[in-house]
Amino acid sequence: MSGVLVMMEQRNGAWNRMSFEALAAGQQLAEHLGTECSAVVVGRNSGSLSQELASKKLKKVYAIDHELLASYTADGYLAALEQFVKQEAPDYVLFPHTYRVRDFAPALATRFSQVLISDVITIRYGSGSTGSPMFVRQLLQGKLNADYRHTSQGPCFVSVQAGTFRSDAVQEGTASVETFTPQLLPDQIRSKPGEPFRESSQSVDLSSAPLIVSVGRGIGEQDSLSLVEELAQALGAELAASRPICDNGWLPMERQVGSSGQTVSPKLYVAVGISGAIQHLVGMKGSKAVLAINKDENAPIFEIADYGVVGDLFEIVPELTKAVLAAKG
Ligand code: FAD
Repeated sequence: MSGVLVMMEQRNGAWNRMSFEALAAGQQLAEHLGTECSAVVVGRNSGSLSQELASKKLKKVYAIDHELLASYTADGYLAALEQFVKQEAPDYVLFPHTYRVRDFAPALATRFSQVLISDVITIRYGSGSTGSPMFVRQLLQGKLNADYRHTSQGPCFVSVQAGTFRSDAVQEGTASVETFTPQLLPDQIRSKPGEPFRESSQSVDLSSAPLIVSVGRGIGEQDSLSLVEELAQALGAELAASRPICDNGWLPMERQVGSSGQTVSPKLYVAVGISGAIQHLVGMKGSKAVLAINKDENAPIFEIADYGVVGDLFEIVPELTKAVLAAKG
């Protein structure tokens, strides 16, 4: 096949929305390489999903179909995709960076003596000795960006961070659909799927809130949350948080913003004591304006902040609340 292959993730016939972001990345990569992009769906009877892809600008859509792939297992996906990639020999295999992909894709890459270039936030093209694309991923909680180039023989495996590419950039077109039936035996599947994890029902809809005050680990302890709650109240804003605050049970999970929480795009996002890890940024970088309060002037949150205050939140937040209340009269 050569070219670019994008694995589209589905569960029970419903797409994982990140799949289309990976597809946009795949189409863009193929365009820069002067090659074509194809897509693959793994599962059982995923015909309607593959038909949906037939209206995209793709060389081909592949449906990897087998009864042992009806539920996700790392063993099943690994064996099926290994056979498929061996047969089709794409140059690049792109995945959305989902929990499932984290589970099986590193092992898949290893089967081809490769590594998975995971959680990529940008693809750069053009310059460079080999002219091959440069994949950028973040290290050390977003403090460093590292560049990766694929130089070895064999396919290059890449997963794409949520929110990096726009799903509405996927180009329309036509593609033919082909079914691939892998050789799988029940003995190969060593795990048995349990009850699927259910997300907590979201009674708070942060996605439509115009003003959000979000609190991070810098707050130190649960008792200090009132400080930030008062600011949110004064502004008439919703209260949100980074993951450690929700993991600690200090605020309910439904108030978490980020890759495993809600995606928000308020007019103003006030980030209090939040470092700006990529998993948090992907949930709030669509905000129209960001005000960050952090005592570390090198915190990554300042890179995307429109307004930054370097200092101790315990001094700044009460003053800010006072000023807001005074302005309201
Ligand atoms: P920290 O990174 O500890 O930052 C605390 C900040 O507070 C620091 O920058 C510090 O300088 C500042 N600070 C400390 N004291 C003060 C003070 N007195 N005044 C002012 N500033 C102060 N995270 C999310 O938020 N949402 C997600 O959805 C999410 N999903 C994830 C999914 C996965 C698979 C993984 C691996 C991680 C995920 N994370 C998520 C966690 C993420 O990687 C970070 O660990 C987390 O965002 C850090 O939260 P934080 O910024 O509150 O804490």
